[in-house]
Amino acid sequence: MSPMLEVTGLGHTYEAKDGAHTAISGLSFTVENGELLCVVGPSGCGKSTLLRAISGLIRPSEGTVSLHGTPVEGVPADLAVVFQDYSRSLFPWLSVQRNVEFPLRDLPRAERHERAEEALAAVGLSAAARKHPWQLSGGMQQRVAIARALAYRPALLLMDEPFASVDAQTRFELEDLLLRVRREQETTVMLVTHDIDESVYLGDRVLVLSKSPATAVAALDVPLGAEREQIATRASEEFVDLRARVAGLLQAREPVEA
Ligand code: ADP
Ligand code: MG
Repeated sequence: MSPMLEVTGLGHTYEAKDGAHTAISGLSFTVENGELLCVVGPSGCGKSTLLRAISGLIRPSEGTVSLHGTPVEGVPADLAVVFQDYSRSLFPWLSVQRNVEFPLRDLPRAERHERAEEALAAVGLSAAARKHPWQLSGGMQQRVAIARALAYRPALLLMDEPFASVDAQTRFELEDLLLRVRREQETTVMLVTHDIDESVYLGDRVLVLSKSPATAVAALDVPLGAEREQIATRASEEFVDLRARVAGLLQAREPVEA
């Protein structure tokens, strides 16, 4: 069976007035069905560029991206993206319920409604369905963005530093929410972050990228089991060891044996 996502020899160079800038170079990896892959790399290394290439928003200069064995041309239908900046990802004039239903507009009304209600319940926002985004806190708005992606039931959920702009407590809650819903709905997730601890806490596997231009330095298995707990897991010896290994790999520029 082909992997859910296969990225092969990916490279991307931005052409700007003041010269060309290579953001990604020779990047290859796979995301297996049902896996939660965290991709960690320094700020500015090319993580968002990678997500744009996978989601068909930009055409990469080199290499290929395949979803279920089919090369991606344009924006694939069975993929959803959650961006970092919740304040710009929701429509302020639509209610929470309508925001979540928006990508489902081709479905019959009853099904649209049911899926949105289910997703809002999963993120603990049933009571806010009739509110508007501006009536909610930042953490709640990001929950709406996550609910919208889940209601769409994508084969692959891509997340670009989705918890980077919320406070620490909310971040912990949203991380645990993601772990719970991906278990319940068996979603395949690829999440990019610059946060080493977050990559280890959430991932089944962590792909470490080099500084710009991003290339794969190593991929590490995270043998922490499915049950994770913010205080105990982060304090465990395995966790501390893994985060030290990821931190060490982040210094490397060339692929190394993990
Ligand atoms: P990350 O998400 O890892 O912080 P990005 O993918 O946003 O990194 O950017 C990688 C590099 O590409 C950065 O040096 C950034 O300045 C550059 N870059 C990003 N978008 C563009 C663009 N549209 N045009 C030119 N350069 C860009
Ligand atoms: Mg980015």
